[in-house]
Amino acid sequence: MDYDLLVIGAGPGGYHAAIRAAQLGLKTAVAEMGNVGGVCLNIGCIPTKALLHAGEEIRSSKHASDFGLTFGEMRLDIAKLNGWKDGIVKKLTGGVSTLFKANKITHLVGRARFVDAHTVQVGDQKVTAKNIIIATGSEPAALPAFPVDQQAIVDSTGALVVPDPVPGRMLAIGAGAIGLEFAQVYNNLGTRVKVIEFAPQIVPAADADASKELAKSLKKQGIEIEVATKANGFERKSDGLHVELEDVKTGQKRIEVFDRVLVAVGRRPRSADLGLEAVGVKVSERGFIGVNKQMQTSVPHIYAIGDVVGNPMLAHKAMKEGLVAAEVIAGKKSEMDVVGIPSVVYTTPELASVGLTEAEAKERGFKVKIGNFPLSASGRAMTLGDTDGFVKMVADADSDLLLGVHIVAPHGSDLLGEAGLALEMAATVTDVALTIHAHPTLAESILEAAENVHKQAIHILNR
Ligand SMILES: Cc1cc2nc3c(=O)[nH]c(=O)nc-3n(C[C@H](O)[C@H](O)[C@H](O)COP(=O)(O)OP(=O)(O)OC[C@H]3O[C@@H](n4cnc5c(N)ncnc54)[C@H](O)[C@@H]3O)c2cc1C
Repeated sequence: MDYDLLVIGAGPGGYHAAIRAAQLGLKTAVAEMGNVGGVCLNIGCIPTKALLHAGEEIRSSKHASDFGLTFGEMRLDIAKLNGWKDGIVKKLTGGVSTLFKANKITHLVGRARFVDAHTVQVGDQKVTAKNIIIATGSEPAALPAFPVDQQAIVDSTGALVVPDPVPGRMLAIGAGAIGLEFAQVYNNLGTRVKVIEFAPQIVPAADADASKELAKSLKKQGIEIEVATKANGFERKSDGLHVELEDVKTGQKRIEVFDRVLVAVGRRPRSADLGLEAVGVKVSERGFIGVNKQMQTSVPHIYAIGDVVGNPMLAHKAMKEGLVAAEVIAGKKSEMDVVGIPSVVYTTPELASVGLTEAEAKERGFKVKIGNFPLSASGRAMTLGDTDGFVKMVADADSDLLLGVHIVAPHGSDLLGEAGLALEMAATVTDVALTIHAHPTLAESILEAAENVHKQAIHILNR
């Protein structure tokens, strides 16, 4: 055997698995057909966050007049913006390559395909390994009526290259994290943006109150949002793309004109063309590879992690699964057993949540108690000039156990770490309420939401 472990794919899942395996003494190789870092570093998490930050600076500079600060006319150098974003990506992907070298991981360049259960063809070479981890990720799901040309009709990858000038009017189809994040980027850059969502609320998987709170704030910023709406197709005319929109409930149709359409309706696992049938690895109808808690597929020495095994398709989930798979292969007792996987929409305000939503907790039969704390009552939020949002806490009335935390707040993602730890440690609401939080901080909103579960918050009336 050439290697103890061959990892297919160098995205967040794959590179975490490879580095942990090397740390544990396994002779490890990674096969990657594109850039190391995968979707997240190259065309996902990182470049979107860079654009969101730039857009946010524009938005907040406009509000600086509230405290007496005005600037001259804003000038935006779009080439420089794209270049800055690309520079961050390059630095981070270069960092992954350096980590591979430092950990003595062999980086094989090329598309990988199974020959037999221990042999993989990578480009023009055959590689054998005792264990194999499939970490091939996902790609944007297509909408047949809107074929992507990365000009007028773009997916998330096309939307990452900001055109000069920015589009006048853009339609984002899909109000998940990706659709909303791009909607806010372009809205801040000066595009008139409409987001439509088939489901009855934006971020369909989110807590209903949190979704409503985010929608309210985004609308206030000028983003048009229509839920229970679908796009049927379009016609290219001289004045733009004439898109047919349909109200899902009434069936009423209308035409609206846009310069650009972003298709952000979800992602598909990349499990085809790997030769999985030949080795007996089972794949679901939708293309997800089935795994157990040790991340083993139906063939025990072949593991799968990340987007290719299923939802939620998030980088930190892929990373954790990568660590678990590597540790299991190295003979350690490890399994994917987590209380909650945090999830964040990186708009301003951010929607950051972990654990059960109120509806999920009720479905599971908990006697639910809720605590709320609005940011409008937070001193720190006022000093930041950003008081949209709240912290909502879902708890079990019988045991006082914390079940879920849903944050809509600037930098909500950074507040989420505390909530995630509390859930993992099986904290009660009282544990959170007894913890001294620094003042003034946004994190105090978590403390006060906990106090509000017990109807004892100090800065609001506990109704
Ligand atoms: C626009 C956008 C924004 C996002 N923002 C966030 C965010 O803020 N936070 C978050 O948690 N998640 C975010 N995500 C999701 C995140 O990018 C994915 O969950 C994550 O990248 C999944 O990691 P992975 O290792 O499973 O696969 P991927 O990152 O998809 O990597 C798979 C790798 O495998 C390679 N590969 C595939 N097939 C083969 C083959 N046959 N041979 C060799 N190599 C192969 C690919 O080239 C790729 O590099 C975002 C996604 C998008 C599209």
